[in-house]
Amino acid sequence: MARIELINLEKVFGEQHAVRALDLEIADGELLVLLGPSGCGKSTTMNMIAGLLPPTSGSIVFGDREVTDESPYQRNVAMVFQSSLLYPHLTARQNIQMSLKRSGLSKSDVSQRVTEAATTVDVAHLLDKMPGQLSGGERQRVATAKAIVRQPACFLLDEPLAALDAALRMTLRSELVNLQKRLNTTMVFVTHDQVEAMTMGDRIGVMRNGGLEQIGTPNDIYNNPESLFVAGFVGSPPMNFFAGDIETVDGQPTFVNAFARFRLADAYGQLAPRSGVTLTVRPQFMRIVSEAGEGTVPLTVYAIEHLGNESVLIADAPDGSKVRAVVAAGFEAKIGQALHASFDPSNAGLFDTKTERRVA
Ligand code: ATP
Repeated sequence: MARIELINLEKVFGEQHAVRALDLEIADGELLVLLGPSGCGKSTTMNMIAGLLPPTSGSIVFGDREVTDESPYQRNVAMVFQSSLLYPHLTARQNIQMSLKRSGLSKSDVSQRVTEAATTVDVAHLLDKMPGQLSGGERQRVATAKAIVRQPACFLLDEPLAALDAALRMTLRSELVNLQKRLNTTMVFVTHDQVEAMTMGDRIGVMRNGGLEQIGTPNDIYNNPESLFVAGFVGSPPMNFFAGDIETVDGQPTFVNAFARFRLADAYGQLAPRSGVTLTVRPQFMRIVSEAGEGTVPLTVYAIEHLGNESVLIADAPDGSKVRAVVAAGFEAKIGQALHASFDPSNAGLFDTKTERRVA
């Protein structure tokens, strides 16, 4: 029943095309994350699913029922926002109860459902407190209890963790996944945080300029990005990009630019020469080597970030672009020092620089 389908969904605000030609199917019981930079249309999409915003065109289907013209209440969705509103003059219990006002349940059933929901998100001991007496994380849990108490057909969460500190965000994101899996309720979760998306989603839909750039499992999105945008948006530290051309050198397809050459045949087979390609390499695949030569990139050390178990070397390539390499925790180098980095081209992606689409 809680399968959600968006069919050719569009939203235009005056001149602003906030959501364009969006086709998306979310399976019953799935946790789908909508990921993308600020302004890409995530909240607009979410508000249309919730029934808070009418689409300019297109339709929304829940299960087999078209809900495009239904109210949020008829759709039976529960929404949690970044700073979900709790009524400050009501206790946590009264706030949660409000969701059941129109349910027709008896007083004792209401009380039981509230206790169950509060127990599920671990706020049963806080039910008699006022929102002002709760921490940010506790307030967000009460808001979640308020959302789940109605046993909705689906949960819509729009950056519910964005206002919280890093440690609390990490705790709550695993709690939310655990809750969603226990209740087996379809969830759509909006975030601009790629780590949140990777760790939570059964699938991730990456949005850009109002459209869906790519949709797939976190593994797909990370390992097989279909565009330079997805390649650069997902992954930490971020992807390295090398601009150049494919030329035939000694009869072999070779990536060539002003400061590097990488033979591509082993990784890609026979590739025709073409100009304007971008080679992408994750920092985890970069190796620091002592000798210059074919298959290496000359670098100048810019900074080292120590993460405890490993470090990230940030360096300048000769064209001024920044290159990142994950190195051992004990790695040391001076700012301004010259180094060389290498990588196996079979770990690299190859994209057309102009169309931003994958070449091979
Ligand atoms: P953020 O992460 O910053 O919340 P978002 O991806 O959720 O961004 P939306 O809020 O969906 O993006 O906005 C998409 C585009 O539509 C933006 O350019 C925004 O300025 C515009 N927009 C959103 N709501 C309205 C509105 N009510 N009136 C006019 N333009 C709007």
